[in-house]
Amino acid sequence: MPRRKTVYVDSDILVVGGGMGGCGATYESRYWGRDLKIVCVEKANIERSGAVAQGLYAINCYMGMQWDENQPEDHVRYARNDLMGLVREDLGYDIARHVDSTVHKFEEWGLPIMRDPETGRYQREGKWQIMIHGESYKPIVAEAARKAATEVYNRIMVTHLLMDKQGKRVAGAVGFNVRTGDFYVFRAKAVIVAAGGASHIFKPRSVGEGMGRTWYAPWSSASAYALPIQTGAKMTQMENRIVLTRFKDGYGPVGAYFLHLKTYTQNAYGEDYEAYWRDSIEQMVGDYVNHHPVPTCLRNHAFLEEMKAGRGPIRMVTKEAFQDPHKETVGWENFLGMTISQAVVWASQNIDPKYINPELTTSEPYVMGSHATCSGAWASGPEDYAPSEYQWGYNRMMTVEGLFGAGDTIGGTAHKFSSGSFTEGRIAGKAAVKYLSELGKEMPQVSDAEIEDLKKTVYKPMEHYEVYRNEIVAGTVSPHYILPIHALQRLEKIMDEYCGGISANYTTNEPLLTRGLEMLGMLKEDTASLGAEDLHQLQRAWELQHRLLASECVTQHTLFRQETRWPGYYYRADHPKLDDQDWHCFTLSQYDRDSGTWEMEKAPVYHIID
Ligand SMILES: Cc1cc2nc3c(=O)[nH]c(=O)nc-3n(C[C@H](O)[C@H](O)[C@H](O)COP(=O)(O)OP(=O)(O)OC[C@H]3O[C@@H](n4cnc5c(N)ncnc54)[C@H](O)[C@@H]3O)c2cc1C
Repeated sequence: MPRRKTVYVDSDILVVGGGMGGCGATYESRYWGRDLKIVCVEKANIERSGAVAQGLYAINCYMGMQWDENQPEDHVRYARNDLMGLVREDLGYDIARHVDSTVHKFEEWGLPIMRDPETGRYQREGKWQIMIHGESYKPIVAEAARKAATEVYNRIMVTHLLMDKQGKRVAGAVGFNVRTGDFYVFRAKAVIVAAGGASHIFKPRSVGEGMGRTWYAPWSSASAYALPIQTGAKMTQMENRIVLTRFKDGYGPVGAYFLHLKTYTQNAYGEDYEAYWRDSIEQMVGDYVNHHPVPTCLRNHAFLEEMKAGRGPIRMVTKEAFQDPHKETVGWENFLGMTISQAVVWASQNIDPKYINPELTTSEPYVMGSHATCSGAWASGPEDYAPSEYQWGYNRMMTVEGLFGAGDTIGGTAHKFSSGSFTEGRIAGKAAVKYLSELGKEMPQVSDAEIEDLKKTVYKPMEHYEVYRNEIVAGTVSPHYILPIHALQRLEKIMDEYCGGISANYTTNEPLLTRGLEMLGMLKEDTASLGAEDLHQLQRAWELQHRLLASECVTQHTLFRQETRWPGYYYRADHPKLDDQDWHCFTLSQYDRDSGTWEMEKAPVYHIID
């Protein structure tokens, strides 16, 4: 085994993950901290990394306050309604009041935003969405971050956060370069985690050679959750996984189709099915079904019930809209700027949406904090707006001192999307600078022994592989090691069958979850024997470890919340109804890495906006 070089990088602010949240954090940290050393570390290359890597066709969070289109309060009401009453209104309001300025910056930096030819305003796709020519969205945003950062370290997979000697304050992070194999120790006074959401913790619909075809980015590997969880940071709403209704097999987006092209869905017999399920949904969730717009999970629920009733497939009626050449162009461009593979899938399946209404499907669940869902870390709120119980530190600081987050990382704030994630990064960056100027002036001390231990831990899968690689039973099966792909498939199967994935029709109960936790525990034991044949597999090994820890957290939360709050996302068969009396609250978890145990508690939901 080659001796690995250790590279030390000291900084004032360390940003982990250079996606939308990370770029926002890097940009804003520089604005407020002119003389600070700001380092951004990214496992891919910020030019094309994260969930926006492939480009987008719409910015889904824009108020339009300059034209009095919406106010921040309206957005909080919208997100609260969609999440069945449970959002951190202080955090959501904080993003909504700043998000327009972020979008204006994007335009200034060169992002082409479509304009309505009649009004001259941004072209609306829906109430909150504006349309962009967004193939180069990420490179444009990354350029601003690159110019702001003191240094950007690409191709470094962060595996662990560092704590100071007292174990109270975050002190940096460690990881390895996926190309050179060098070990990196980033010591920092404050750390902002913006490492994206999680796909591939539940078994995907596409398996085998197609397993990379998921809706959320396959490289979103739950580091945003695992890194803070390991430090003992509290997490919230981790049970609130999201299921998406999307075009079948390509997961092409439906937003522009529903909102801009005015297409609609129907069952196999050409009937509107959503109204049919209204009364039964009302029995499960009460008045939430009568809210407008109908919450995303409830629309999923109607879809799933209709399929179970044997009246599938559900199709999107595109044939009418596509007779209009302009709408036909928009329909195709929507995919070309965002999900080219959906166009390829349609071509390969002989689907021309002008003549055939394409099928829809529901995805496997994902864990994220920026879409119509709000899993993530429990964060302190804005000083001028958050109730006192939500304020224990600086804005967006987690329950660990000096540790901040943004985007998918932060829980309780649904519907921030790309622009809101960047905005939250800006908020976290500004707060981290304030923390540095007040409490966090000194560089925290990290023990050399901890660094050496982590170095051994990080490369262990490669050592293990090297020692045992010749003891193969057959093919890739070894009595001594488990490969990352094998462990991943085992994880996905456990989560799928026990925690409410597609094979279980998104349904689970206490005995299933309890057994699922046992199975996850056994998998955890076996991951001590992960084998990695090269640096690429070493990255897969650590992504797997992050997914596994996040999955355990999701399962613990799902077990704790004894109700079905979001039918269509998942069902607790033993508690099949929404229960506002006992569960109109946030769920919080805290992991103790020494004992491997979890503590669960409830936190109040404050409705600040009427
Ligand atoms: C298919 C799809 C369609 C979407 N459509 C829209 C849309 O139309 N409009 C819209 O506004 N939003 C849309 N979104 C949402 C938007 O992309 C996300 O809200 C946003 O990217 C979240 O920002 P983030 O910074 O949390 O995560 P990301 O942007 O995903 O960034 C996370 C970064 O962290 C890096 N990273 C992860 N782990 C590590 C690690 N261990 N070490 C180092 N680096 C790491 C990743 O490589 C990545 O660069 C869409 C997302 C997807 C996947």
